[in-house]
Order: sequence, then structure tokens, then C-alpha cells
Amino acid sequence: MDDLLAELRTWLGDALPKWKAKWNGDTSWDALCDWQRMMAEGKWATASWPLKYGGRGLGTMDVLAIEDVVAASGAPQIPGMIGLKNVAPTLMKFGNEEQQKSVARIGSTDEVWCQGFSEPGAGSDLASLRTRAVIDGDEFVINGQKVWTSNGMHASHMQLLARTDPDAPKHKGISAITLSMKTPGVEVRPIKQINGGAEFAEVFFTDVRVPVANLLGPLHEGWMVTMTTLGHERAGVAVFAGRLEQRIRGLIEEVAKRDVRVSPVVSDELAEMYVEARVLGAMARQMLNKIAQGGTPGSEQSVIKMVWSELSQRVDTVVMGLAGIEGVTGENNSATLGYLSARSATIAAGTSDIVKNIIGDRVLGLPRD
Ligand SMILES: Cc1cc2nc3c(=O)[nH]c(=O)nc-3n(C[C@H](O)[C@H](O)[C@H](O)COP(=O)(O)OP(=O)(O)OC[C@H]3O[C@@H](n4cnc5c(N)ncnc54)[C@H](O)[C@@H]3O)c2cc1C
Repeated sequence: MDDLLAELRTWLGDALPKWKAKWNGDTSWDALCDWQRMMAEGKWATASWPLKYGGRGLGTMDVLAIEDVVAASGAPQIPGMIGLKNVAPTLMKFGNEEQQKSVARIGSTDEVWCQGFSEPGAGSDLASLRTRAVIDGDEFVINGQKVWTSNGMHASHMQLLARTDPDAPKHKGISAITLSMKTPGVEVRPIKQINGGAEFAEVFFTDVRVPVANLLGPLHEGWMVTMTTLGHERAGVAVFAGRLEQRIRGLIEEVAKRDVRVSPVVSDELAEMYVEARVLGAMARQMLNKIAQGGTPGSEQSVIKMVWSELSQRVDTVVMGLAGIEGVTGENNSATLGYLSARSATIAAGTSDIVKNIIGDRVLGLPRD
């Protein structure tokens, strides 16, 4: 492990200055994709992938250590996380030969993938989705709408969930289908967010025709395929949870350096958040260890998701408070953006209400109604 991290530090010491010199402070989508391409060529972005897909075949804990070193180096965020972390492992598991060719292209950002799951009226209750895919000869004909599609504006491809058997029970009769966003009949519209960005899109499908060979996994078994994808998303949440302690520690160090003393209310909140983050970090590491050893996380992932999302909102609220008027006016851009962006944490990957329902039901054994 030490050798691997030493190799990474040497690689970063060479690659990062080259990327910075090339892009000269530009953090546009193209610049970030270029960084991902370099990270994939070095097999760092793809370290968890098996060797045959251009990875290093490393386990969760090694990958975590790699990501910590990369984050500490000040390297930019990789833009194609959804493809790298969620879609690619699903394609490796369920994709046919043609679909698996996308894996390498996901690493290099020649293909950027998004997940077309949520719909108006089918978010928390995803199994109520109504987008239809009807088999006509050797093609699917797709009609419907998706919403909150992350990276939808940049994506070249989508992992879509559509209903293929409307007569089957809700969780059955859904299929996973892959498609190019350039297919005729696909219309992508940006969704403007409270933080000023447009990282999401609405995607409309009107008589979109794709080959039946684009089916991902067995017909009508899209729910099972999607659970694999979402399992990877939940492991990602545990990684974020593990990092919160580091972030709060950084915040405390920053506050300690200030000339002006902060109020006892803020000190109390910082101390409480730090204690909670340490407990959360221990739980997250335990869960990631379990995954690394081939285990399947149980309801602890719901506890981690709830505590992480609510605690990270509290951290951003404190940061906003410390920024004072500059946070409110937007002059302190990172405090304002952080505060606004954190609102989504209790919605994405399962809202806090839904997660609390699961904890009440499966952890505490409370009656359902
Ligand atoms: C940052 C972010 C990224 C996302 N990326 C994607 C993506 O790439 N692809 C994609 O398909 N989707 C994506 N989503 C959508 C996300 O999956 C949904 O927003 C989420 O599942 C909630 O669904 P909804 O927005 O339809 O809200 P709803 O399900 O309509 O919920 C509305 C409110 O009702 C509450 N509620 C609903 N049901 C219950 C219940 N049974 N008990 C108690 N309360 C309930 C909810 O907690 C919420 O407060 C993303 C969302 C966010 C915030």
C-alpha cells in the first residue's frame, strides 16, 4: 500500500502541474474531462476496476486511500463520477459484449453517462415509473419523461429504466436499457438550480427507437439491475461520510486561527458536529470494510445516509454563519454555494423521510403506519 501511494504521489507531482499549465485556471467541463482522462490513463480514476477493463483491481479500502491522496493534492473533481462509479460496474456485470465496450470510453470521458431513473411522480417511489418501452420487431420504442438527470446536459449516454410490462406488479416489468442521448426523439432540457448551476436535466422521449440489443440485463429485470447501480451509489455516500470528520477538523483549525473569538454557540456546535462526525466516520469505515470483504451492507447504510446528509447541511450552515454578510451577498462564493448545494443532500439517493421510514421499519421494528 505504501508503495502504491508513493507511486501515486510521484504521478500527481508530474501530472497535476502539466494539467494546470495546460488549462491555466480553467475549470470548465472540458478541462475537468481532460483531468479525468489523465487520471484514467494512469489507472487512478479506474483503480477499482478489474485489470481487463483497464483498472488495477483494487479493493474499497485501497481505493479510498488513493482518493484521499488525490483530494489532499488539490486535484480537481472528476466530472464523470456517475459513469465511473455507478454505470461502469453495472455494465461490467450485466452488459453484453457491445455494451461492455463502453467501459473504457467511460474512463476516458469519450462517453459520459447519466442515470435516467426518476420521473415526475416516481422519485421516492421509483417503481411507479411510467416511461414505456414497447418491443416492435427488433427495437424498443420509448415514450415518457425523466427528471433530475444529473449530468444530463453533458451526457452522451443514459442508463434508462422503462416499463416493459405494464401488467406485471410494480417492481416487475421494468427493464434497464442503454441508449445514446443523440438518438432521434430524445430531448434534453436543463433545470436551473437555486445555486445558479444547471447540473440536472429533464429528458423527454418521443417514439425513441433503440435496438432490443440495448437491453441491460434480463428483460423485465431492470429493478434488480438498478439495485446493483444504487448499491455502488450508497457505497459512495459512505465515502463522503468518512470524509466529513476531516472537513470539520479543517473548519475548527480555520476558526482557531481567527483574530475574533467565535460565540460559545458556534464553539458548541463545532464540538458536537466533530463528535458526531467521528462516530459517523467509524460507521462508514466499518461498512466499507464489510463491502471490501464481499459483504452486503444492511440497514446501517440508511443510518449513515441520514446522519451524513443532515450533518453536512449543519456544517454548511455554520460555514455560512461564519462568512456573515459576505455569505448572504454571495461575495464569499464558496460559503454561499456550499450552503445552497448542501440542500440536495437530504434528497439525493433517498430523501431523509424515506431513510427514516427504513430505519423505523427495519432497524427499530416500528409498525409501518
Ligand atoms: C443532487 C441530486 C442528484 C440526483 N440525480 C439523479 C439522477 O442522476 N438520476 C435520477 O434518476 N434521479 C436523480 N435525482 C432524483 C432523486 O432520486 C429524487 O429527487 C429522489 O428520489 C426524491 O424523489 P422526488 O424528488 O420525486 O420527491 P418525492 O418522492 O415526490 O418526495 C417529495 C417529498 O415527499 C416525501 N415523501 C415521499 N414519499 C414519502 C413517504 N413514503 N413517507 C414520508 N415522506 C415521503 C419526501 O421525503 C419529500 O420530502 C437526484 C436528486 C438530487 C437531489
